[in-house]
Amino acid sequence: MPEKFDVIVVGAGPAGTSCAYTCAKNGLKVLLIERGEFPGAKNVMGGILYRKQMEEIIPEFWKEAPLERPVVEQRFWFLDKESMVTTSYKALEWGKEPFNNFTVLRAKFDKWFASKAVEQGAVLINETVVLECIVDDGKVVGVRTDRPDGDVYADVVVLADGVNSLLAKSLGFHKEWKPEEVALTVMEVMKLPKKVINERFNVNDDQGVSVEIFGDSTKGALGTAFLYTNKDSLNIGVGTTLSGMIKKKMKPYELLEYVKEHPMIKPYIEGAETEEYLAHLIPEGGYNSVPKLVGDGVIVTGDAAQLVNAIHREGSNMAMTSGRLAAETIMRAKETEDYSERTLDYYRTAIYDSFIGKDLKKYKDATHVFEEHPQYFEQYIPLMNRAMGTFFTVDGTPKREKQSKIIKSFTGKNGRLGVAKDLYRAWRVVK
Ligand SMILES: Cc1cc2nc3c(=O)[nH]c(=O)nc-3n(C[C@H](O)[C@H](O)[C@H](O)COP(=O)(O)OP(=O)(O)OC[C@H]3O[C@@H](n4cnc5c(N)ncnc54)[C@H](O)[C@@H]3O)c2cc1C
Repeated sequence: MPEKFDVIVVGAGPAGTSCAYTCAKNGLKVLLIERGEFPGAKNVMGGILYRKQMEEIIPEFWKEAPLERPVVEQRFWFLDKESMVTTSYKALEWGKEPFNNFTVLRAKFDKWFASKAVEQGAVLINETVVLECIVDDGKVVGVRTDRPDGDVYADVVVLADGVNSLLAKSLGFHKEWKPEEVALTVMEVMKLPKKVINERFNVNDDQGVSVEIFGDSTKGALGTAFLYTNKDSLNIGVGTTLSGMIKKKMKPYELLEYVKEHPMIKPYIEGAETEEYLAHLIPEGGYNSVPKLVGDGVIVTGDAAQLVNAIHREGSNMAMTSGRLAAETIMRAKETEDYSERTLDYYRTAIYDSFIGKDLKKYKDATHVFEEHPQYFEQYIPLMNRAMGTFFTVDGTPKREKQSKIIKSFTGKNGRLGVAKDLYRAWRVVK
């Protein structure tokens, strides 16, 4: 008789490990299956990890987790070809307990996090691919792996296998993601001495900076670039919706080179050496792309369920909370030994009642609207740069004249009504 677990979790990213940790801590027999050589080996993230949702799983994790720097400053750069408009928020309070968020390197963090689940009693097997769910009479009862005699059984299978969830797709929970539902992102980890990072970003050893970069960093396509400070390396990356890349005929690695060579960005990475090159998809379809979340004996979490807030660059935290909510659902189901879709539906309700459902709903039209109206990234960011340039260039032109020239430059192409419509549309999708 093959071994049977209470729970099998597929994928040891933030979603899967949160679920495995919480289930094991509460006495369930858990199997965590990861295809990578170790958890994190294949995982990609810009690197901002939020404290709150992680702390709900392991209180005061920062005292032992392998973190890079607590972020004390969030910068936004709006780029044109040779200029940028910037804004930022810096808070020294974020550099002290309990912190706001941290930069992390996923290869280190995921490995550590999974080891904590193992400490709680979860069985972790690496280098094992789950090929399909075993379905009996419409109910998921286990998984088939690529190991010899690789079938394993459980009361519930949790799919935490990330954005390309072939398993959820093969159960018919969703179709192939459309190009506008995913962003294609490439990034590099670049080595740079701590001292140089501190000087360039105006921080000390225990302070980090995150920079989100819009406009020319994606050649006007819907997307962003980012630059984050680790202890002695920088994470630099860029991504746009896959449809944006296709439309603009951009190649992701060429776009990253463009970003690295940009005159506003290059000075920050000067002398840094590429240590790692990574590419990955981010599910950015939002609220309307969330697939079916539960079935008989099965729950879908994290990226596999499109739980990403692209506007706020939140994915890992949603993954963690969804993993925890899946675990809590399974513990409830265990009380009555009923793992039917009806009982597991508690998870779906919990997701929609949490910040995840509420935030996804708030921004439900954002990707779609910004994709359909490229003027926000293509026109308004260069115009904003030119307006600042005009206003601050001292050339003897009276300021009132400059002001009216700036207003004309904004309304010239689309007219006042067009600009008012654009502003109203943008306000509606983020309100
Ligand atoms: C470039 C980039 C930048 C990002 N920046 C941020 C950021 O700064 N902050 C943030 O919060 N989020 C960010 N995100 C999003 C974040 O990375 C994801 O939302 C998060 O990792 C999702 O966690 P997950 O556990 O659902 O999936 P993943 O982290 O993708 O984990 C899935 C796991 O499943 C394993 N797996 C897959 N299929 C199988 C299988 N068949 N069998 C066994 N194992 C399998 C994989 O190896 C992997 O370990 C970024 C994403 C990218 C790509």
